[in-house]
Formats: sequence, structure tokens, C-alpha cells
Amino acid sequence: MEKYNYGFFPGPVSVPERIIRMSNNNYGSADVEPEFFELYKRCSGNLQKIFNTQNDVVVMTGEGMLVLWSGIKSCLQKGDRVLCISTGLFGTGMIDMAKAVGCETDSVIFPSDCSFEDMDLIEIKIADFRPKMITAVHCETPSGILNDMTRLGELKKKYNIPLFYVDAVSSVGGTHVDVDKHNIDICLGGSQKVMSCPPNSCFMSVSARAWEIAEEINYQGYDALLPFRDAAEHGYFPYTQSWVNIAQLNEAAEMILEEGLDNAIKRHEMCAEEIRSRLKSAGIKLFPREERSSSPTVTAAYVPEGYTWDVFDKKMRDKGIVLGGNYGDLAGKVFRVGHMGSQANINTIKKIWNLL
Ligand code: PLP
Repeated sequence: MEKYNYGFFPGPVSVPERIIRMSNNNYGSADVEPEFFELYKRCSGNLQKIFNTQNDVVVMTGEGMLVLWSGIKSCLQKGDRVLCISTGLFGTGMIDMAKAVGCETDSVIFPSDCSFEDMDLIEIKIADFRPKMITAVHCETPSGILNDMTRLGELKKKYNIPLFYVDAVSSVGGTHVDVDKHNIDICLGGSQKVMSCPPNSCFMSVSARAWEIAEEINYQGYDALLPFRDAAEHGYFPYTQSWVNIAQLNEAAEMILEEGLDNAIKRHEMCAEEIRSRLKSAGIKLFPREERSSSPTVTAAYVPEGYTWDVFDKKMRDKGIVLGGNYGDLAGKVFRVGHMGSQANINTIKKIWNLL
């Protein structure tokens, strides 16, 4: 299906007209035009508000994995210790990413149907392993689990851990992401989830300590972070930026700020509640062990009894509703409803949501 009547895919989500319209322009060269540098700075400032941070926000033109790798490769080097806290696929994926740059890794891995369970266990690991970086995922998109960063942020401070790295790709804009309050050094976001843009840009907040470390390491590569530090100020980016992508991301950020971040978050919470209540009343079991660990942006649930995923997916597609399947251990068993960004629309949900 090239186009969905009612997309509830957990990213890329349906792109609203206002964002599509930004691509209907023959933009000038992002290498030289001052208007582009101003737009970049405006976009970065808007994303600071959405991240609740005074830290710099760097925007890159590529999809989400670009900033995930940029943070890892720019701030870590062979032999550095990295502690990965995981409740799912993206959390454990960070172990492999850190290993790929030669880091020594340790991890605390919780089951995928619950959020961080045992903070004492995490504290013992931190005290013992003394990592340079702690990694965590705010919203595990495959399981719809939202992890609270409060205690990890406190532990980062208590043990003076240089870097706290958080993937907020599928939560930022749809729930509170408190970068400064939770002492997050590198927080990662993507355009194709709550921001409701095509998968063509990504962004990361960078603390002063993270910049210092990136400077020490001085990683050279296409995904290097350091060249972005003063790029907009000096009008000199490491490679040509895509004006249209940044224009779309900025428009998305402005849409959220016009609505009011708190209102956007309430809208996500309301839609999540509606979807969950409809799933439950259709006799479908939610995947998270406790409903309170479920993210306001995506809900995972068991494929209903009597259906395979393929049959259920087809039945829903025949009604014009497109849901997300799953990966790894959850493939075929657990499906996902993406109620994020443009798809968190209570009127549409109430009108069409009729599952079985
Ligand atoms: N992190 C999380 C939690 C995600 O859900 C995704 C994509 O689904 C990514 C990172 C990677 O983003 P992208 O697919 O845009 O590279």
C-alpha cells in the first residue's frame, strides 16, 4: 500500500499537509544562504524547548540511526566502559553499537514487557563498573514501554558518570522528555515519529561535557558530531544540508509549540487511553505487564486469539487501518498501534477504530 487511509504505523507516521507543503519550494543552496543558517538555528532553538534543555541541539539530515551512531562514535573510543540499561531491542542494540567502537560493555537487561524494574541492581552495577557512558531508551517502540529517566539521571549525577545517552526517538514531542532535569548529556530524536515528518532528519541535544569529550576524541567521519558545533554560526557545515528536510522539521516543531507542548502531550495521553480501552474491550491483551509502563505514543498488544499476524493485518488493512507488526522475539505475536504525532487524533480514532 503506497498510501494509508488510516495509518497507525509506529513510524514513519502520516505526514500532515502543512509539513508536506514545505517541500513545494525550490530551495537555494544550504551551503551559502544566510536564510538557511537562520532556519537551522531557529529549528535547533525550537527543539531545545521540546527537549526542555539549555543544551545545544544539533540537527542532521538523515534518519534516526544517524544521530544514534554520531553520539556513540563521537564520544567513545576503544576501551571506554559503557553500561547499557535495556528493556528491549533498541536498548540491547546499544551494546553492539558500543562494542563496534571497541568499548568494554556491561548491561542490565530487563524483560521486554516491563520498564526499569530494579533500580538497586542498576546502582550496584554503576558503582562497580564505573562506566564512562550509561545508555537507555526512553520509549522502546517494539514493546511500547516507556522508561522513566528520573532515577538514572540521579545516579548519573551521584556517581559522576561523564555521559548519559538516551534514545527518545519515539517519545520526544509526545511525552515529557526532560533533558536538563534528568542530567541527560546526549538525547536523540527522529523526524518520522511524533514530529510527523518523512524519515529525513534527526536531532540530538549535546551537553557541555559531551562537547568536551567529542573534542578530545575528535572522531572523523560522515556521522561526526564535532563539525556541527558552530556550523550554523559560522555558516560552514561539514557537508551540504538538505534545506527541505530542516524546513519540514522546523515546521513540525513549530506546530507542536503552537499547540503547546503540554497540550500535545495531553493529546497523546488521551489517544493512548482511548486506543487501549478499545483494544481491551475487543478482548485484546496489552503487551506491557503493567499498563502504566505503556508509552503515550505507541501501544503494543498481543495478536488476538484465532488470528495469525498476517491474517489480522490483512483484516485491518481491508478496513483501511494499518498497524505495525513486530521484530525479533515479538514478531508474529505482538503488534503495535502508533498513536503518535499526526496519528494522535482523537476524532479519527473514535470514528474509525473498530477492531474485530
Ligand atoms: N530508536 C528507536 C526507539 C526507534 O524506534 C527507531 C526506529 O524505529 C530508531 C531508534 C531508529 O530510527 P530510524 O529508523 O529513523 O533510523
